[in-house]
Amino acid sequence: MQEVLSPTKHGVSMKREEPSNNQVQENKKARTKEPSKKIRILDYFTPGGEKTTNPNAKESEEWTQKQFEEMLHGFGANWVDPEGIRGFNTMSSYIYPTATLERLKPICTYINLLFVHDDVCDRIALPPAPDEHPDLALLRNTENFKKMHKVNAYIFTTGEMPSGVRDSPVYLHQEYHNLYHQFLKLSNKEWMDRFGKDMMDFVIATSKSQETDFEVEDYINHRELDSGMYPTIDLVEIAEGYVLTKEELENPLIKRMRKCVTRIASLLNDVCSYEKEVRDGTSYNLVMLYMRKYKETFEEAVEKVLTKIMDEQRIFFSNEATLLSEGVSEKLQRYFNALQLVIAGSWHWQLSTNRYRHPDSVFEELCGLHPKKM
Ligand SMILES: [Mg+2]
Repeated sequence: MQEVLSPTKHGVSMKREEPSNNQVQENKKARTKEPSKKIRILDYFTPGGEKTTNPNAKESEEWTQKQFEEMLHGFGANWVDPEGIRGFNTMSSYIYPTATLERLKPICTYINLLFVHDDVCDRIALPPAPDEHPDLALLRNTENFKKMHKVNAYIFTTGEMPSGVRDSPVYLHQEYHNLYHQFLKLSNKEWMDRFGKDMMDFVIATSKSQETDFEVEDYINHRELDSGMYPTIDLVEIAEGYVLTKEELENPLIKRMRKCVTRIASLLNDVCSYEKEVRDGTSYNLVMLYMRKYKETFEEAVEKVLTKIMDEQRIFFSNEATLLSEGVSEKLQRYFNALQLVIAGSWHWQLSTNRYRHPDSVFEELCGLHPKKM
């Protein structure tokens, strides 16, 4: 399955099902083409910013988790593993370093909800446990599962709780409803509509089975959506305390800058998570696509992906320079800086977690493990 680079998914098992032996063998074969010399990602990629973390991150994470556990406990929803939503907001600290505690809390709550979505997907892919919670059993039914998304989409587009919802975990819908109103207070209806649409595009993209023979451009376009980066960068406005106008969002240079960020972050993840995905038996990764479909060596494939990332960075900075030379508002100047922090943060976060590290990683920067925090 694909991996997202929204602030979700770190630490959670991404496997919806065990990889087939064939896939693992194929990945291992591809791995033998890896070079003996280590690759230094920073020879190609410039993160464009120092490691910056949010001083409110710990407090926000603790508050969000406690509130979430209480809610689930109150409803007897013991199908969500409390450990499963522990410590998953580490990335928000890196990509929203400026958010106040008040703004970081709903962001972290949203991320926990995505984790629950992920948890549901992971669990219903496995055979049911004998004592399975009735709500989880309910969601095994594809129609019910679709309905859960439809209800969430309704809430996120109207701000209202539909009446008479059946065969769906109402408490989760209630949480979406609460979150809608928290975000609305910090934004406006236009932002809510955009965020709701981007979130649903992301959920739909992640639940589609992934093609493995994409052409490169099709793959990159799909990755923009299923990486979850659009809702992630919408949240930059919540974190920063302003909302972009329709006119600003439709400016072709700004639109392209947003696309650049989604591409840089998602493709950088394909490089950083490459070795993990080989081990997991996943083949949805641009490095693997170049190797499999275009018969590139590993080194050539990595270089091609990193070159694409650099091309996107050049477009980002060139558009920014054009806009700044034309004169833009202080808000937009802050926004451009905040987008740059997302790029830098996605790099520094990927280095900070053990998720992508390996004692013998082929990438110099991902070699060795960080000591485990007690
Ligand atoms: Mg990945």
